[in-house]
Amino acid sequence: MSDCIFCKIIKKELPSYKVYEDENTLAFLDIAPVNHGHSLVVPKEHYQHIEEIPPELLAKVILVVQKVGQSIKKNLASGYNLQLNNDSVAGQVVPHLHFHVIPRHEGDGLKLWSQAEYPEGKAEEVLNKIKIN
Ligand code: 5GP
Ligand code: ZN
Repeated sequence: MSDCIFCKIIKKELPSYKVYEDENTLAFLDIAPVNHGHSLVVPKEHYQHIEEIPPELLAKVILVVQKVGQSIKKNLASGYNLQLNNDSVAGQVVPHLHFHVIPRHEGDGLKLWSQAEYPEGKAEEVLNKIKIN
């Protein structure tokens, strides 16, 4: 997509710090890292959402997510979070599918989202809406 910032990075029209590249996938450093080494893994073809990417291509992208995680854990951090912000309501700002790989260190203070228990009967109600088969 011509006005997509990640498509421009993929086409080398904009610079990036490249972590990994192959025929279908690019991984590069996030410009504003949560922790140093925070990487983004993107398919070279433009899709906005995970529902739209062909499964065979998604599988290739996920294998690169695994590679980047392995390198981060081997060389930089004790663990990592994976995040995909899918849709603007979920925090997606750049409309090109991307996985965040966020290095984690003991005591780095990064807080994940808050949780709460289901009220009586709600789990069954929600399950009936989203269950598959
Ligand atoms: P989102 O909120 O869409 O899941 O995340 C977009 C991410 O892209 C953000 O973490 C942001 O820092 C990163 N980002 C935005 N523009 C650029 C850019 O031009 N270069 C790089 N390397 N990262 C970017
Ligand atoms: Zn794009």
